[in-house]
Amino acid sequence: MRHVRDPAAFPLKSSEESVDSAMKRDQWERGCIEQRFKRCPPLPTTSVIIVFHNEAWSTLLRTVYSVLYSSPAILLKEIILVDDASTDEYLKDELDNYVKQLQIVQVIRQLERKGLITARLLGASVATGDVLTFLDAHCECFHGWLEPLLSRIAEEPTAVVSPDITTIDLNTFEFSKPIQYGKQHSRVNFIRNLLVYLVNEDRNGVGGTFKRTPTFAGGLFAISKTYFEHIGSYDDQMEIWGGENVEMSFRVWQCGGQLEIIPCSVVGHVFRSKSPHTFPKGTQVISRNQVRLAEVWMDDYKEIFYRRNQQASQMAREKTYGDLSERLELKERLHCKNFTWYLQTIYPEIFIPDLTPAFYGAIRNEGAKRCLDVGENNHGGKPLIMYPCHGMGGNQYFEYTSQRDLRHNIGKQLCLRSKLGPVELGECHYTGKHSRVPENEEWDLTKEHLLINMASKKCLSARGEHPSLVSCNSADPYQLWYFS
Ligand code: UDP
Ligand code: MN
Repeated sequence: MRHVRDPAAFPLKSSEESVDSAMKRDQWERGCIEQRFKRCPPLPTTSVIIVFHNEAWSTLLRTVYSVLYSSPAILLKEIILVDDASTDEYLKDELDNYVKQLQIVQVIRQLERKGLITARLLGASVATGDVLTFLDAHCECFHGWLEPLLSRIAEEPTAVVSPDITTIDLNTFEFSKPIQYGKQHSRVNFIRNLLVYLVNEDRNGVGGTFKRTPTFAGGLFAISKTYFEHIGSYDDQMEIWGGENVEMSFRVWQCGGQLEIIPCSVVGHVFRSKSPHTFPKGTQVISRNQVRLAEVWMDDYKEIFYRRNQQASQMAREKTYGDLSERLELKERLHCKNFTWYLQTIYPEIFIPDLTPAFYGAIRNEGAKRCLDVGENNHGGKPLIMYPCHGMGGNQYFEYTSQRDLRHNIGKQLCLRSKLGPVELGECHYTGKHSRVPENEEWDLTKEHLLINMASKKCLSARGEHPSLVSCNSADPYQLWYFS
């Protein structure tokens, strides 16, 4: 038996059919269509929890209907909509009255705006299903999305499982082919600030019943309710949005669980380029959430993050991130492993920046009285500029590493390299094991404060429009560089 979709609310567009059959073909090619699930013992039931703040009526209801339409009734215990203190009027009585006819859908409300973390905790506290399935309020579940998630949890109760998230186009709402998980997701992009390259695309490819993943986007996932409680649910002092997905990723792995993508489970999500929400206490709550997770789970590696985020660094120094004793106790109680174990075991291929680089920060030029700066949107290939020193890191953040390359690595690992004309940034050739620094990326920072490039034996100069290499002269202040 399946729940009925309300055809008046969501008429099928003619184009939807072709997308649908393309997706089915894709699932067939992955071997998903043939999968069979045991009836005895039956799969666990689930409560679907959808938190929202001022979500559009159409996207919210589309999410609800798609769950009803695509989930076997025997598995779907209830849908819990948690309103995180929305201010839009239509989300009050009108929504309450509307969902009454849907019977297994209920709305509960967080009266004060506190964010998605406590809203999800509130939803979880009233859920009666065996498994909690969290979805964002702008999703669409594809045929057969639920059974593979529940089946995996039945087989391995410590598995925290995510569907393969596909893109729903922001403008046309068209469902499109599966994306490489994590690629365009803002919640994953900021992980790059924590540790570089945490998103490894190969691990998230298609095929197989599950793929282990070191981190996850964290918006759409299922977890056994018992295990959710055992493993420490969420840090309820995290506010509004951000960081909770990384916290959960590290915690689940370090404390004995596993994080997986289930390729046969496909759910669409509307990706937005930036967060549409207001932040009542300002966006620094994101850094605060991140500092909370770094302090608990990242050991000394947290410094890698702090060096790249001034705001976080200051909060850590001044200890303004709130009380962590409960989270630290949890870590103790569950005998969780340390971050070195996580990196070596769960993510051995990751490149870890120097824990203690010889020099890091901004590089100030004596003659120009400005700092070396990569300029706007420089992901490699563009010349650098000299810019007034702003002390904020960002485009002026560099590390001089133990292998003597000069890295701008707040996101990707980019290295300063010699070139005819102005120097430029390019992807670093040194990536750890079995690699070495080519001479055009190797720099000697001399006692006189010259920066000599080892391929050309020329010195970096700030004279002219862009920093470039010239014949060395330690009497020229434009060739003298200081880390600050
Ligand atoms: N959300 C919320 N309160 C907030 C921020 C977000 O309830 O303060 C909800 C939001 O409506 C959505 C989910 O949490 O259903 C995830 O937020 P969003 O979709 O903005 O995050 P993203 O998909 O960009 O990670
Ligand atoms: Mn979302």
